Amino acid sequence: MSDDGTFIRRRTDESGGQKRDLTYPPLPQALTVPVYDNHTHLEIEDGEGLDHREHLDRASSVGIRGVVQVGNDVATSVWSAEIAAREPRVLAAVALHPNEAPRLASRGELHDALAVIDELAGRPRVRAVGETGLDWFRLGESGIPVEQGRAAQIESFEAHIEIAKKHGLALQIHDRDAHDDVVATLKRVGAPERTVFHCFSGGPELAAVCTENGWYMSFAGTVTFKNAQPLRDALVAAPRNLIMVETDAPFLTPSPFRGRPNSPYLIPHTLRSMAETLGTDVGLLAAQITSTTELVYGTWESEPITIEA
Ligand SMILES: [Zn+2]
Ligand SMILES: [Zn+2]
Repeated sequence: MSDDGTFIRRRTDESGGQKRDLTYPPLPQALTVPVYDNHTHLEIEDGEGLDHREHLDRASSVGIRGVVQVGNDVATSVWSAEIAAREPRVLAAVALHPNEAPRLASRGELHDALAVIDELAGRPRVRAVGETGLDWFRLGESGIPVEQGRAAQIESFEAHIEIAKKHGLALQIHDRDAHDDVVATLKRVGAPERTVFHCFSGGPELAAVCTENGWYMSFAGTVTFKNAQPLRDALVAAPRNLIMVETDAPFLTPSPFRGRPNSPYLIPHTLRSMAETLGTDVGLLAAQITSTTELVYGTWESEPITIEA
């Protein structure tokens, strides 16, 4: 990272030859009751490219109080912890993404990488371990045999659960095509007190399991997509005190801007769509989500702490 905190990684998941509109959508109407974006990746540059300060300034201007900046590997986790230490609107989550675990394990680097995550998890403005979990969708893509990749993901997920419990932090789970195995792993190892399914992707059945266990469900722009009725059914089924909202920016841009770059300032679209689905007032929902988010991650308001590089 440079002296002014800038650290940028280019989005690499562009789908083969398909042209996207790479301009950022306009600013939505500001929220009257503010909320937090509890899962974003400010360092991943997409489209015309905004740095983390521009993302945060736009977010502030429409009533987004703060964000949880999420790491996916050692470098982005280190950056997340450092930016949270300097920027009052940012708290950090640190972890190795499930898709990262097989690559690290195949090079014999998983344990050292986990030790770095453990160290970062002890810093004051790191308030979650994540995103970790299981991703059966991309298994085998990196040329690593499927069974080997699966074992590495489970080993890494278990280690992250232990790190979250050791430091008393929330756990942010990435669950892609792996509901049953995620739930089984949480039950086998013992879930941390505050466990969050980031970009909740299940239907009412998974919502019922989360409810039974007191696990939080964080909804992303996907809940606004036309074909996502099961997600909306899950939202309706979820107890109001277990619901949060996120962008997972720069991915999963809400309707009507699906496909364009995402940023925390677009949360109002997702929140308004959720309120409509729930038949409730946007301000009331925002107030509930804000208090839930502060319960899960603690307050953003403490003085930023300077960490020597
Ligand atoms: Zn994820
Ligand atoms: Zn993410």
